[in-house]
Amino acid sequence: MQILVLNCGSSSAKFAVIETSDGHELISGLAQRIGSPQASLGWKWDGKKQELALPGADHKTSLEAIVKVLRDLGLAATIRGIGHRVVHGGEHFTASAVVDAKVIAGIRDCIPLGPLHNPANLTGIELGAALFPELAQVAVFDTAFHQTMPSRAYLYAVPWAWYQDHHARRYGFHGTSHRYVSRQAAELLGRPYEACATIVAHLGNGCSATAVKDGKSLDTTMGLTPLEGLVMGTRSGDVDPALIGYIAPRLGITPDKVIDALNKQSGLHGISGVSNDMRTLLEAAAGGNDRAKLAVEVFVYRLAKAIAGLAVPLGRIDALVFTGGIGENSAQVRAMVLEQLAVLGFRTDEARNKDHGRSAKGRITADGATTALVVATNEELMIALDTATLVAGKQAAAR
Ligand code: ADP
Repeated sequence: MQILVLNCGSSSAKFAVIETSDGHELISGLAQRIGSPQASLGWKWDGKKQELALPGADHKTSLEAIVKVLRDLGLAATIRGIGHRVVHGGEHFTASAVVDAKVIAGIRDCIPLGPLHNPANLTGIELGAALFPELAQVAVFDTAFHQTMPSRAYLYAVPWAWYQDHHARRYGFHGTSHRYVSRQAAELLGRPYEACATIVAHLGNGCSATAVKDGKSLDTTMGLTPLEGLVMGTRSGDVDPALIGYIAPRLGITPDKVIDALNKQSGLHGISGVSNDMRTLLEAAAGGNDRAKLAVEVFVYRLAKAIAGLAVPLGRIDALVFTGGIGENSAQVRAMVLEQLAVLGFRTDEARNKDHGRSAKGRITADGATTALVVATNEELMIALDTATLVAGKQAAAR
């Protein structure tokens, strides 16, 4: 079944058409800088890249341009459903859902939890419904996979009313990636997904790690927002919350501005002063830049500590799985992390790690050591598969 996957952000809209029977991506593209004079739409089809300037385009104009491209290439008529990435599903959504008035109201209810993302995700859904009124729309939530976390993992130790009255708790993100990657890992391990214990380290610009046992997320590093947990490209990850009250008056800025800096000027970028990009930092570190080296060291140390912590809910580790741009591509970072995790029995096999596990069914560790794998994530495919399943179910129910 061919599915249009849409990830509508505040100033961008990512799209792909995927044939779910074999996972083939027929077209993929990105409208970016939406709302600015530099707005543009780029896409890749049949191995060729094309770009179109859309000066001043808003979300509506951008999506109309995407649909025109799909129509011109003869791809629009065969699409059977639209899968939307939605960032925050709060406690409303434990799985992907066919969009109806109730689902829209649920996503709207979660706007206070995801103020930067949910409104744009809703815009994508509304425009999708207007442009393709005959197609079912499916919402796939970043948070849904983590709704299986037990209360001991998701509660903050704060006054009870903060949770009860204001829904302040840990939710976790990157759920679509963690779900896809943990499934792929079970397949590589030759074990049923429902009897598998893995720790997935999703390391991209945003980073999070999740303990997955028997197909369920038991704990994850991100919290109420994606700021909690690991050191990331520009996000600090865990800090003492008292840091906000300490630094705000010293810098003469409001607490909101401090949180903004923790999201946008911290992490690898903050420590190194060079870049938020791991590849650039590794090159700078190799060239003798001490702060770049330090940033990588903090990143690796904090990640290794978090992974060791996630062994607690699992009880055993069938595999640690690296994914995301850093996890899939940086043999150096993986080797550094595994070295720090020797206490858990990890030992890197240099040759396997160097070719990203391709020659050994994803394995990058030595025989006899605790297993670590590299698995390429594919959130778009997971969204398309969920959408196809729900669309097929809806069609069967209508018959
Ligand atoms: P996003 O979270 O935006 O999807 P990606 O998953 O593409 O991001 O990950 C981007 C990160 O992956 C960047 O820090 C980039 O430097 C890093 N990366 C990509 N390739 C390599 C590589 N060969 N070595 C080290 N880091 C890499």
